[in-house]
Amino acid sequence: MKPAELKKLKAILAKPKKIVITTHWSPDGDAMGSALGLYNYLLKKKHKVSVITPNAAPAFLSWMAGTNKVLDFQKDPLKSAKLIAGADLIFCLDFNALKRIDKMEPLVEKASALKIMIDHHPEPDAFADFMLHSVKACSTCELIYTFIEMLGDKKLLDRKIANCLYTGIMTDTGSFRFPSTTANTHRVIAGLIDAGAENAAIHMRIYDDNNESRLKLLGYSLSEKMVIWPDYHTGFIALSEAEHTRFNYQKGDTEGLVNYILSVRGIKFAAFISERDGMIKMSFSSKGKFDVNAFARLHFNGGGHKNAAGGASTETLEAVIEKFKKLVPQYKKELQDEKF
Ligand code: 5GP
Ligand code: MN
Repeated sequence: MKPAELKKLKAILAKPKKIVITTHWSPDGDAMGSALGLYNYLLKKKHKVSVITPNAAPAFLSWMAGTNKVLDFQKDPLKSAKLIAGADLIFCLDFNALKRIDKMEPLVEKASALKIMIDHHPEPDAFADFMLHSVKACSTCELIYTFIEMLGDKKLLDRKIANCLYTGIMTDTGSFRFPSTTANTHRVIAGLIDAGAENAAIHMRIYDDNNESRLKLLGYSLSEKMVIWPDYHTGFIALSEAEHTRFNYQKGDTEGLVNYILSVRGIKFAAFISERDGMIKMSFSSKGKFDVNAFARLHFNGGGHKNAAGGASTETLEAVIEKFKKLVPQYKKELQDEKF
């Protein structure tokens, strides 16, 4: 964001406004952390703020301040549509293509509000009036911290805001271990802890709060379903709808599963293929140079980051697995060249 744009936005935000904050389909820790971090900050600035998500967020994030005020577009389409149409400003967080907000897309597109995109995914579409975008940022939460700082409001950071932003940075960096983690990430984290972020408690709430069936699904997936192709340095797990049901699947239960596959020695490309609600959703993860964003965009109508991306398909689970099996050998050379 250029200084002149920042000045303009700062002037707009100097008076109370009607603001909608939205984030991507199937919101994750960074999506909800950035949305609620910004929400709690803008409330302090006396704006009228609503967070609207395209579908529900997982329960393991529901402790964040403001969660009970979040509108789920799938549950409340009429109220959501009214708020979107009446908004002065719409913040689009942690996504950069309007198709990522599913059925909210046409409503946001035609809304008269000024649109502000804050995001760290590559190749942003040009739909926003203001953009705070950097692929170097580890997370959108890191950018929200920068945004609050740029507006001269670091002093307004409090425990509630800090807890939300800490959560998104922690989840998007795999607890500060992915290559996206920078010195700035740690500086921001230090600032958040100074502002009251309850770091140890957050780690516990997110990682040490599993129900029994989630762990059993993880155990089953790893012992019964993981397929490793050493020649291609690739591994995958595919789960059917029935398998999800058998383990009483709750939203978020397979979050991070793909990274277990990636942790197998020699594996540089991991995929988790999941059949749920009559759809196939894929999560891709890679080590090093292999670009799963490009892979997801090209073959599975998806996207994401170089080392973590996702996609979807309306074909059958079997057809998707077959397609994946045919695709991987085409990348054999790329996967073998990689040093890891
Ligand atoms: P996850 O595996 O956690 O669902 O997603 C990993 C990364 O890929 C996240 O940054 C997420 O935003 C992105 N992503 C996941 N699914 C999709 C998708 O269908 N389309 C796009 N463009 N990005 C996705
Ligand atoms: Mn993110």
